[in-house]
Amino acid sequence: MFRPVPPHAVLVPAAALVVVSTAWLTVVAASGTASPTTSLAGAAGQGVVFAGTSVLLRRRAAGSMAEAELWRWLSRALAALAAGAVLKGVARLAAGGATGSDAELLGGGLATLVAAPLLYRGLIQWNRVGTTTSDPTDWLNGLGGGLAITAVIDLTVARWQPDWTVAPWWLEQVAVLQVGALLLLVGTVLTVATLSDLQLDPRSWLAGLATVGLAVLTGADVLVHGGVPAGDLAAVGWVLIAGGLALAAVLRAHPALPQASKTQDLAVGCLVVLVGGVSTIALATRLDPGRTAPVVVLGLLAVAGACVNAMRLVGDLSQLARTRQEARTDDLTQLANRRSLLAALAEALGDGAATALLVVDLDRFKEVNDRFGHGVGDELLRWCARLLLDAAPSGSTAARLGGDEFAVLLPGAGLAEAQAVAHRVAALGEHPVPVGVHRLRVGASVGIAVTGGEPVTPSELLRRADTAMYLAKGLGSGVAVYDDEADLGARQRALLAVELEDALGAEHDAAGPAQFVVHYQPQLSIHTGEVVGAEALVRWEHPRLGLLAPDAFLDLLEERGHMGALTGHVLSTAVQQAQRWRADGNPVRLSVNLSTSCLTDPGLLPSLEAMLRGSGIVPGDLVLEVTETTLMEDPAVSLRTCEQIAALGIGLSIDDYGTGYSSLAYLADLPATELKLDRSFTDRAVAEPRIAAIIAGTVTLGHALGLRVVAEGVENLPTLELLRGLGCDESQGYLHCRPVPADAFDRWAAAGAVAAGAFAAGGPS
Ligand code: C2E
Ligand code: MG
Ligand code: MG
Repeated sequence: MFRPVPPHAVLVPAAALVVVSTAWLTVVAASGTASPTTSLAGAAGQGVVFAGTSVLLRRRAAGSMAEAELWRWLSRALAALAAGAVLKGVARLAAGGATGSDAELLGGGLATLVAAPLLYRGLIQWNRVGTTTSDPTDWLNGLGGGLAITAVIDLTVARWQPDWTVAPWWLEQVAVLQVGALLLLVGTVLTVATLSDLQLDPRSWLAGLATVGLAVLTGADVLVHGGVPAGDLAAVGWVLIAGGLALAAVLRAHPALPQASKTQDLAVGCLVVLVGGVSTIALATRLDPGRTAPVVVLGLLAVAGACVNAMRLVGDLSQLARTRQEARTDDLTQLANRRSLLAALAEALGDGAATALLVVDLDRFKEVNDRFGHGVGDELLRWCARLLLDAAPSGSTAARLGGDEFAVLLPGAGLAEAQAVAHRVAALGEHPVPVGVHRLRVGASVGIAVTGGEPVTPSELLRRADTAMYLAKGLGSGVAVYDDEADLGARQRALLAVELEDALGAEHDAAGPAQFVVHYQPQLSIHTGEVVGAEALVRWEHPRLGLLAPDAFLDLLEERGHMGALTGHVLSTAVQQAQRWRADGNPVRLSVNLSTSCLTDPGLLPSLEAMLRGSGIVPGDLVLEVTETTLMEDPAVSLRTCEQIAALGIGLSIDDYGTGYSSLAYLADLPATELKLDRSFTDRAVAEPRIAAIIAGTVTLGHALGLRVVAEGVENLPTLELLRGLGCDESQGYLHCRPVPADAFDRWAAAGAVAAGAFAAGGPS
């Protein structure tokens, strides 16, 4: 039975035969004893070997994605050598088969000079196996290096062998350049093979051996022929290289990791070329100018190459510095970014020294953004960044963590120093910030976390400062220090959120979520003392914590998207209450608060209509309170909803008037019926004439727009009297009655406290 012979079983021995016989023919030609036929056969053999290897390498390139570039460059080098062999053959043919003519030397030399850089390029590519980045700077380094080495050889000859002359001079230079190029290749092979893990690749030993062999043979060629390289011994070296590369192409590669080009390596290479070039020129000036002209020319070229290279490097480095800078700074404020802060924090904590971290969050920044647009918001953030830098001591790092959240790292600082800085930062809110045509006053909440050197990770310290910041925000205290209690607060909040969801979800009965009750606070005519309305205010009867005020859970509700459910419950409870009061013959107008998400909830209008339809109250018995902040969340949708509410005949009240950033312009469009002066105004009215003037102006404005003006938070008689004098219509506050359950409200009203005391303090609490 015949077994088919695999193609490589024939091809490999045949190729080896061609390489060996060509090497032999070339050696014979180098010995000077070759017959014309042998010398021509030698040149032809070289051509076949080089061209064949070139084709083989190109096929190898097609078969390997990762090393395609490497093999392509090597294939090009071999093609150049094949062209050189053709030139050599033609020159030998012209010389009747004689070897060593000037034309042959020039052809062979030029082919070497073309092949060497192509090989160099391939070797550099090998160093970067797997990457597509070719580094053009390597070209310049190689060229400069080759020129500098050549200049050194020239200089060596001029200094120690001044009588060595070869005619013509250009042939001498081609020979010297060849040696220079080969020395450079040897250096490159050795460097590349020892870099990274390429020394584990058997092919690097093959390449190293072949290149060293080539250099030795070329050196021998020069020496054997008394300084005039005949090129044939060198050609043996090239044939060996070709054989070596052919073998490498079929050997299995050791997997190598991609290498990025290192700027410092390039800089060292550049410096070596520069120093080599300059010192060669300097030494050449001390010798016979007739002999050193090529040294100076080559040296100058090398120096020029190195200079261009250096300029590119400087450009690359500044680009790198810019990129690094960009990666570590916040685009908008130019402060450090979160990544950079964490790195600085890791460094500070690594020393085991005391470290303090402040986390700063602007209060009501979203309102500014919504009201004035993102351009103004951005400008405000830039201002805050500048103020933060002013407040932070030298040696600290100020960073923007994102949005309106900033941080200041104080390495080595203790609690006292951190608190001093935190108060400086929190005081920023006391000064209005000029942003474009606006002057905005933005407060800040600052959380402090300090470590005395005990092991804490950067992210843990950041979490602690963040927790403290939320505590500061929640308390409205401006500054808060993290301690385990603050942490406990955060954990309690998380627990509360879970309980809130349970209370809203699981405990639903026919009357709604049972734990949520509604209290009522009366609103009195400021002139007659008659109860004309009441505000419905929700409370949570928490099984563990007792009666909770809305501030303790409304944010959580809004955060978790349950506001709609609660508002529905409060609304229906309030409507039923209004119905009862009407049925009892004491109709009272009832106000219910709407939150941000309610105004944009498409379910609000249908449920309002349904409630009114099923109840015995008139739409005017119901007032819905919205704040300026609520309106600004989505002004277009909110305005439309308000118009629809008004169209139903329900009253619309602007709650907490004077605390937001909204302009007066929206008053013109909003179909409001009532304006509620915020407690922060009524509080200060007696003590501060300017506040009283603002209230007077607001009352005039409200009346001009046909609005009822209700004063909130009235706690004492002087305030009540002043507000009456300023023209307010109604009064609501602890002076009259705190928010109480409906039956307590009834008892309070029945006790005739209003009629008797006409605004005397007291009532149920
Ligand atoms: P608000 O609408 O401005 O309600 C007035 C708040 O001021 C009430 O606080 C009331 O108890 C308090 N207050 C009234 N008179 C005085 C006074 O003389 N002195 C002082 N210091 N405070 C007084 P409460 O009940 O804690 O409600 C706080 C806020 O929670 C309300 O402010 C309102 O924005 C919100 N809220 C209450 N119930 C609901 C609700 O059912 N739905 C929604 N969305 N928000 C609600
Ligand atoms: Mg209200
Ligand atoms: Mg209010």
